[in-house]
Amino acid sequence: MRLDKYLADMGLGSRSQVKELLKKKRVTVNGQPVTDAGYQVKPDDSVCADKTPVLYTKYEYFMLNKPQGVVSATEDSVYPTVLSLLTDSRRKDLFPVGRLDVDTEGLLLITNDGALAHRLLSPAHHVDKTYLVRTDSPIPPDSVSRMAEGILLHGDGMTLPAVLEILHPCEARLTIREGKFHQVKRMFAAVGCHVVYLKRLSMGPLHLDETLLPGQYRALNQEEREALQNA
Ligand code: URA
Repeated sequence: MRLDKYLADMGLGSRSQVKELLKKKRVTVNGQPVTDAGYQVKPDDSVCADKTPVLYTKYEYFMLNKPQGVVSATEDSVYPTVLSLLTDSRRKDLFPVGRLDVDTEGLLLITNDGALAHRLLSPAHHVDKTYLVRTDSPIPPDSVSRMAEGILLHGDGMTLPAVLEILHPCEARLTIREGKFHQVKRMFAAVGCHVVYLKRLSMGPLHLDETLLPGQYRALNQEEREALQNA
């Protein structure tokens, strides 16, 4: 891989910013300054910028406990984005896998692995997503069977069968297998309940690390990465 692409992929700036770094001899390969942007980096090369090693990782995977008030997008003109919370990674190709509403908290996977994101989001794959839901009125007990049969969403047809566990009169866990627009809120509205708090707990084999406070994130460990690849 060309040195300028290597450095740009790892978040050291745009290709032209990287060329400036090279010109100023701030980048070394195996201890020697390299100014040629087209230098082909070899597998054993040790690349440093400002004396700090720059290791190349093709894909990165982070689990974020999304707080309320940030949007699951790469850019937004009103709200801060989930990417602005990832202060340790400077790479530009990260994106959130799927969307949570601005007032929804919980598990959000952020990666640059487009193929994995496609598999997790594709309607054909039916990846389970479990949410903790709080409502402003008691959840009718027959909601369990109604959600198990599927709920008719205006303009969106029937949902796939969903699993509802009522934990308290106004609190439940709901597992859905799709990601229709505002799906959980609309399913609860259909049984007469208004959702006042929503948090995603899991997506496929990935479970929110409960030690992460809203706004905190961490890299996925190898076990989690493998589980996602096999999902
Ligand atoms: N369903 C919703 O209604 N909102 C979300 O953020 C996620 C699922």
